[in-house]
Parts: sequence; structure tokens; C-alpha cells
Amino acid sequence: MSDEMKALRTLSAKVGSDPLLVQAAGGNTSLKKDGVMWIKASGTWLRDAGAKDIFVPLDMPRLTAALAADDPACESCTDFVRQELNPSGLRPSIETSVHGLMPQKVVVHVHCVNTIAFAVQENGKALIGERLKDFHWAWVPYARPGLMLSRAIKGAIRPGVDVLVLGNHGLAVAADTVKEAEALLSRVVAAVQRPVRSLGTPDLAALKAKAEGTGYRLPEDPACHDIALDGWSCQHGCQNVYYPDHVVFLGTSIPQDATSGQPAISVPGAGVLVHKSAKSSVEPMLRCAGDVFRRLDPSARLKALSAAEIDQLLNWDAEKYRQTLNAN
Ligand SMILES: [Zn+2]
Repeated sequence: MSDEMKALRTLSAKVGSDPLLVQAAGGNTSLKKDGVMWIKASGTWLRDAGAKDIFVPLDMPRLTAALAADDPACESCTDFVRQELNPSGLRPSIETSVHGLMPQKVVVHVHCVNTIAFAVQENGKALIGERLKDFHWAWVPYARPGLMLSRAIKGAIRPGVDVLVLGNHGLAVAADTVKEAEALLSRVVAAVQRPVRSLGTPDLAALKAKAEGTGYRLPEDPACHDIALDGWSCQHGCQNVYYPDHVVFLGTSIPQDATSGQPAISVPGAGVLVHKSAKSSVEPMLRCAGDVFRRLDPSARLKALSAAEIDQLLNWDAEKYRQTLNAN
């Protein structure tokens, strides 16, 4: 393994262990070297990058040509895997086009909660633009990952751009070395920091009473409760979805009904409960919702995903595969 690949694995594990940057199987990293792009595999967790082999090799010339031609094979990018170098049989990330369209050797894509707190607002592009004046950045309007996101990036990217803000989604930075990519990520994350509100404290007695005799339990991470604690956050954050992984792992809402069978339910003013059968991705996604809303306030004009956008995410084969892996 090359020193750059070792460095990428180290950075990936570090970024993947920071809940303000990456939650569960979200986020991904890549390295282009000798005609091969090594990218995080779909459904794997970045935080495991140090201990497990989670990277898939793709044929870079074929991927580049396919992206330029808007080839439908870019929907999943599985056709471009160098199978002789891929004994694990894993598939590439569903966000491979982000990495393939940035020409730099190293790309780091994260679901940075500070970036998301800008990217879910109607005027998010203008607001984050004030913070990113000193960067070569571009705003990419929301598009479902895969071919649609690929088209949106092609419409937004310009030569020299090394920072992408993805509307209703997150952040990607790129550089020619892992060290430079890490430094750029740190500078962008510092530039987009937002004030953090306190949303209150959970009412554990009320939650325990609600859980009694149901299939739900208290979450292990107390930060999961935040999204349901104040009225404005609970109203918006539990009834709408603002970025893809929320709908994929938590569903279209965090309802109050304990017979709903949803991965999580909310008790307004008290906190949340998690279904006993919930996957390991559920608590990190609940925490993420609270982390985003703690960085928003009721004056923000929020832009939720539409019913059509949610439908595109839930009825997509590449996404169904990722969820299958995540269940194991
Ligand atoms: Zn993403």
C-alpha cells in the first residue's frame, strides 16, 4: 500500500469519527493514482478505514469518459470497478460522481453539520458565499446522488474549483495530496462555523413512560434527543427531511406514534425513542438532525426536500443496496 493510501485511510478514519463531519455510513473519500480511483465502498463506514479494507478500485479513464458522456452506467459506477484488484467484491460509493468530476487526486466528501445548516436554507448559497469568499468554491443545487448529482456538478464546477457545497447535502474538498486536502477541509470547516443554540434538556421520565410496553427504547447517545426538545426544531426537523441520509435512515418523519414502527419517534419537549430493531445508523442520524438544528434559528427560511425528491431517493436500486449492507 502506498504512503498516500495509508495517509488517506488515516484521514478517513479521523474524519469518520467526528459526528460533526460524518454520521454512520455517510461521507466518502478517494485517491486517484496510476489510472485507478480508490473510493470508499457503498455502505461502509469511514471511521473503519484504518482497520478494514473499505476502498474499491475504479478504472479512471473509463469513469472519466463515462462521466463526460453522461453514460447511464454512472448511476452506480459498478461497471468501472477493476475487479482483479477488488477481492472484497464491494461496490463503489453511490456518490462516486462527486469524486470522479473533481480533477484533483484526493477528494473528501463530508456531511459537515455546519455546512448543512447553510445548505438547507432557501438563501443558503448567498449566506455561505459570505463565509467562503477566500476559497475557490462552487454551489451545486440539490440533486439525488448518482447521475442527477453528476449533471448538477458538471453544471456548477469551473477550472480551479476545489470546494463544492452541495445544496441540501454537504461539502466536498479536493487537493493533490492527502495533507493538503486535510488542511483545506480544516480551513473550510473553520470558515463555516455557526453559533450553537441550546435546545433544552430531555425529560427522561416522560420518555420512559412513553416507551413502556412499546417496541421503543431510550437512545444510548443523549444528543439524539435534541431534535425534539424545542418547538421550532421539533416541528420542522421531525416533520420534514432536509438531506438524503435523513430520509434514507430515519424515514420521511420522526412521528409521535409509538405504533408507527418507524426507526425513531419523537416526544415533543421530551426527546426521542429508538426502535429496538433500529439499525446502528439511526442514532448517528438523530444526533445529526439535532446538531444541524442547534445551528439554525427560527428566523431561518428552511428548504426541505420535496415529496418527489424523497421518492427518488427511496426508489433507487443503488440506495437500496447501501441500506442492505448497512443492516449487516
Ligand atoms: Zn453525501
